Amino acid sequence: MRKMILTIGLSLLLGSAALGRPREGSILDGIRPGPDGKIDVVTIFPHQDDETIFVGGTLLIAKQDPRVRTHIVCFTLGDLSSARDYLHITGEELAKIRIEELQSAATVLRVDELIQLDHPDQGLPKLPPEALAEEVREIIERTGAEVVITYGPDGMTGHSDHRALSAAVFAAFPQSQAQRLYYVSLSRFWSGVFPNEAKLRPQPATVKVDIAPVKKLKGLALSTHASQKFYSGWLLNLGMMNRFDHEWFARAAEKQ
Ligand SMILES: [Zn+2]
Repeated sequence: MRKMILTIGLSLLLGSAALGRPREGSILDGIRPGPDGKIDVVTIFPHQDDETIFVGGTLLIAKQDPRVRTHIVCFTLGDLSSARDYLHITGEELAKIRIEELQSAATVLRVDELIQLDHPDQGLPKLPPEALAEEVREIIERTGAEVVITYGPDGMTGHSDHRALSAAVFAAFPQSQAQRLYYVSLSRFWSGVFPNEAKLRPQPATVKVDIAPVKKLKGLALSTHASQKFYSGWLLNLGMMNRFDHEWFARAAEKQ
């Protein structure tokens, strides 16, 4: 009898946990191809490695659909990473290194287009929000995006560039032709323990993508960001993100 009660209790517990869990699926569910018959997936992040850490596997999985084109947009030069001090190099030198690292990662991730902009690192919060949103809108139009992916208002780590760009993408989305906006997220457990300097938590995931079949390629793409892997405070997280079999996304906005 006691065993039965325990079993019922356990299944109730598991059932309630399952309610709050994201379903496993595709970020492309319900997305219609554009007039050219293609589905353009665009990541918009401030630094070289943001996209690889949180969306690398999903970009590879998305490309298994022959209609999909992927685009990476990197807004800043990444010149203020702590790798600059560790390596005793200038911001200009670090920017050159990181841009080449991202180009290598994009090759590994089979990305169709890489758009590298030249805003200074940590410069996005200093821009007028409307000007940044307008720049984002123009880029979304230029890529022909159906799906846009960026950080949520938490910025995942709380970084000020992450949060400023998230707000700009959210503001630009309704004026663009894109159909759906996702924020990168994490599992419930990792949402609670992932280091965030602003003490904010990611928006709960609504879908998790199984990236196990492409995990080795994602690992290779992560290792192309060698300056960050070996010479920045992100060492722990670059390694950590390569252990997961999923990437998580919260559906942030949708247009019919
Ligand atoms: Zn970043």
